[in-house]
Amino acid sequence: MGSIEMTQKPHAVCIPYPAQGHINPMLNLAKLLHHRGFHITFVNTEYNHSRLLRSRGPSSLDGLPSFRFLTIPDGLPPSDADTTQDIPALCQSTRKFCLPYFRDLLERLNEESATSGSPPVSCVVSDGVMSFTLDAAEALGVPEVLFWTTSACGFMGYVQYRNLIDKGLTPLKDASHLTNGYLDTIIDWIPGMRNIRLRDLPSFIRTTDPDDLMIDFCLGETKRAKRASAIIFNTFDRLEHEVLDALRAMFPLIYTLGPLHFLTEQLPDDDTRSIGSNLWKEDRGCLEWLDSKPPGSVVYVNFGSVTVMSPVQLVEFAWGLANSGQTFLWVIRPDLVVGDTAILPPEFLATTRERSLLASWCPQEQVLSHPAVGEFLTHSGWNSTIESIAAGVPVVCWPFFAEQQTNCRYSCEEWGIGMEINGDVKRKEVERQVRELMDGERGKEMKRKAMEWKEMAREATRPSGSSSLNLDEVINKVLLSPR
Ligand code: UDP
Repeated sequence: MGSIEMTQKPHAVCIPYPAQGHINPMLNLAKLLHHRGFHITFVNTEYNHSRLLRSRGPSSLDGLPSFRFLTIPDGLPPSDADTTQDIPALCQSTRKFCLPYFRDLLERLNEESATSGSPPVSCVVSDGVMSFTLDAAEALGVPEVLFWTTSACGFMGYVQYRNLIDKGLTPLKDASHLTNGYLDTIIDWIPGMRNIRLRDLPSFIRTTDPDDLMIDFCLGETKRAKRASAIIFNTFDRLEHEVLDALRAMFPLIYTLGPLHFLTEQLPDDDTRSIGSNLWKEDRGCLEWLDSKPPGSVVYVNFGSVTVMSPVQLVEFAWGLANSGQTFLWVIRPDLVVGDTAILPPEFLATTRERSLLASWCPQEQVLSHPAVGEFLTHSGWNSTIESIAAGVPVVCWPFFAEQQTNCRYSCEEWGIGMEINGDVKRKEVERQVRELMDGERGKEMKRKAMEWKEMAREATRPSGSSSLNLDEVINKVLLSPR
C-alpha cells in the first residue's frame, strides 16, 4: 500500500463526464483515493447533482469534510426532467462551455484552502472525454490523470479514427454502405487487434457527414489524451493485454485498475460506503425476488442508462423473452422507449407474470453478482460488460452505439462469453439466443469462460495483483508527484 509523504494532505479534484456510466466508476476511483489519504472534491454538473438529490435523498450529497461535492453547469438549457441528456449535444457543450467554470472552481478551492485549512488542489482526475480540464490543470501546474471509462479496445477504436479518415474508410461515401456489406470490411492494420471489421469499431464512423460532430469530438479527445500525465482504464491486463501492449507503445503511462468495484469492495466499511451515484431511484425489491429463485436460473435484462429503442423493438424483446420460456428480471428505464412511455402488450404481461419481474432501475452490481442470475441481456456498455465479467455471467449482446460494438465483438470473439443479437431485433432471435445461452452447449461453454475471467479479475485485484499494484503506482508515481 502506498504511503503519503506530503506535509499536507493531497487534494484530488475528480470530474466525471456527466452520464451514469462515467459517474459510477469515477466515484469508485474517488473512494479508493480517499481511503489512501486524499482529500476529494467530486465535481458533478448542476443537472446531475439535482437528479442525485432527488433519487438518493436531500442529505445524500452532504459528503464528508474530506470528501465534498461541488458543481459546474453543463451548458445545456435548464431542465428538471429525469432523463438522460442528449449525448452529442452534451459532448459539444461540455467541450465548449465548461472550462472557465472548472478553472474558477479550482481557483476557489485554492483560495478557500488559505483560510479553511482544506489542502490546495494537488492533482486532477478527469474523465477522458472531459479533456478541456487539461488546460486548467496545466495552468495550475498540477498533474492530471485521464480516466477513460471505456474498454481499452474501445479506446483503441477511437484512437484509430484519424487513420480511418486518412484511409478514406470514414465518412462513408454513401448511405448504402450502411447496409450493403461495406461495414464487414476487415481492418487488419490496427495494432493489437485481430479480425476486426469496420462494424466492430466505435459506431460514430457510420456517418456520411464529413463534418460529423461526434467524429470531430473523438478526434479531439483522443489527440489531447497524449497531454495527460497518465491514462487509466477500468479493465485488467489479462483481459485486454494485446490492445494494452499496443496502447502502451503509443501513450507513455497507461494503468489498468479494474474491475474497480472489486477494489472498492475491499475498503473498510467507512463513511464513504453510503455515498452512491444512481441517477434513478433503485428498486431494491429485485434482490429479494432473486433470493427466491434457484441458482443460475434468471435472465437479467438491462440496456443501461443511454440506450433507447423503438416501441416495435421493445415488443420484439418482450415476445422473445416470453417465448424463451425463461424466468427473467427486466429493467425498463422510464426513458428507454423513444418519444413514448414503454407499453408492453397485455398478453405478454399475462403470459409471463409468474416468471418475471419488471423494474425501472436496479442496483446492478448486486444483481449481477446474485447467484440466481445466469445470463445478462445487455447493450454492452463497458461498465455492464466488466461488471458481468467480474460476476462470471455470460452475455447476450445488443450493442447500441459508441464503443459498445467493440465490447460486443470482444465479448463474443475474444473472451468467448457472449452471443450477439442483430440490431434489427427479431423475437425469434431473442428467443433462440436467450435459450441457447441458458441451456445450450455453447451457453455452458460461455458460462465456463465467464467464470475463468471472473477468477482472473479477482487475481488482478488481490493485493499483489496487477490492478492493485497499478493503483499504488499511479498514486505514488503520478498523483503525488509534482507535474
Ligand atoms: N446501472 C445500474 N442500474 C441499472 C442500470 C445500470 O446500477 O438499472 C449501472 C450499471 O451498473 C453501470 C452503469 O449504470 O455501472 C451503466 O453503465 P454502462 O457503461 O454499462 O452503460 P451506459 O449507461 O453508459 O450506456
